[in-house]
Amino acid sequence: MGDELLSWDREHLWHPYSSATAPSLVHEVESASGVRLRLKRGGERVEVIDAMSSWWAAIHGYAVPELDAAVRDQVGRMSHVMFGGLTHEPAVELGRRLVELSGLPHVFLADSGSVSVEVAMKMAWQAQAGTGRTRFLTIRGGYHGDTFSPMSVCDPDGGMHSMYAGIVPEHVFAPLPPTEPTDEEGFDAWATEVADLFEWHATGIAAVIVEPLLQGAGGMRPWPARCVDHLSRLAREHGALVIHDEIATGFWRTGTALAQDRLEERADIVCVGKALTGGYLTLAATLCTAEVAQRVSSSPAGAMMHGPTFMGNPLACAVANASLDLLASYDNDTNIRRIESGLRRGLAPAAAAPGVVDVRTLGAVGVVELDSAVDVQKVTERALDHGVWLRPFRNLVYTMPPYVTTDDDLAAITATICEVVA
Ligand SMILES: *Cc1c(COP(=O)(O)O)cnc(C)c1O
Repeated sequence: MGDELLSWDREHLWHPYSSATAPSLVHEVESASGVRLRLKRGGERVEVIDAMSSWWAAIHGYAVPELDAAVRDQVGRMSHVMFGGLTHEPAVELGRRLVELSGLPHVFLADSGSVSVEVAMKMAWQAQAGTGRTRFLTIRGGYHGDTFSPMSVCDPDGGMHSMYAGIVPEHVFAPLPPTEPTDEEGFDAWATEVADLFEWHATGIAAVIVEPLLQGAGGMRPWPARCVDHLSRLAREHGALVIHDEIATGFWRTGTALAQDRLEERADIVCVGKALTGGYLTLAATLCTAEVAQRVSSSPAGAMMHGPTFMGNPLACAVANASLDLLASYDNDTNIRRIESGLRRGLAPAAAAPGVVDVRTLGAVGVVELDSAVDVQKVTERALDHGVWLRPFRNLVYTMPPYVTTDDDLAAITATICEVVA
């Protein structure tokens, strides 16, 4: 059965960023619990530690009793109803929690991260209707999703702009900010360049959009709070709105509930996703200020013009509520610091390996940057030999472990990363 399943998969199923004719190797997962995936490998069943939290979403691990119960309970009531003209308790409860978390009073429930970014960009666009402001400004090295509008503000080189030239709208890209908060010269030079860009494009910019404090899939790159704040202040001075994409940084991944909790300047629009449902179901949200909501609602359309079929899905909302309850029951501050120091200590030896250009940690994120692209399949297989599931990209071998990962399992993850990069 296993072999037949895999060969059917190879023939017919697209996997993320894969070829239909030369698909990359995939493994069959039979089940998962705690931080472990049970998968088949060469006819054998093996248990491996998930160092990726299933793309940063499964923060509580798998088969979590509280989350399982929330889904089961909601299935018994209703799995879905349309959100046009109807509402329900799971959505209202989730809305309340997100408003409290973000300090922003208006919530749009989207069905994936990319859609929430589409909605954020539409919100900004509609709020700026009639002002002639139609472009977005971002920094290089970003990642905001794979549909056309989010793609247009992904890094123009690392992203997919050239592949879709002519259909991806052109926006304004500021240079990469310095990574070190103490780099005064780097900051001054960058800040001046960005201020000049604003002068140049001032009246055309609808909004600034960035991932605050950590660029995720664009390069796993931390950047200083003062740079994020500098962009927000320039945006305000020039009449542009500020969008913070917290889809990767939200829910304690970088050390605070939201990255914005460490900023002086709050965004007008915030996106959350990924860990929102504890990795159980696809759900994201776009939140905005009263002013943005008011401007959108008095724009020519008179409404926010978006409405997914599965908007506010009750199962997803119910499990998100349970996940946020679980998070509220942890001492996240201490726990994320525990993970951060485990990652820092465990990854330190990697810095001495040939070809390693940087080792960095921020909250529950640990990254080893190499001087050239890694062979993803080779690294993945090698890590599996050590009982760890890793999924590197480009020149980055990284981990974003579930928050329930024990110190021993963290040590196994970091030892494996050191091993595979050596
Ligand atoms: C993953 C991600 C997205 C896209 O989310 P999807 O659910 O994959 O569409 C957008 N922005 C950031 C910062 C992300 O990390």
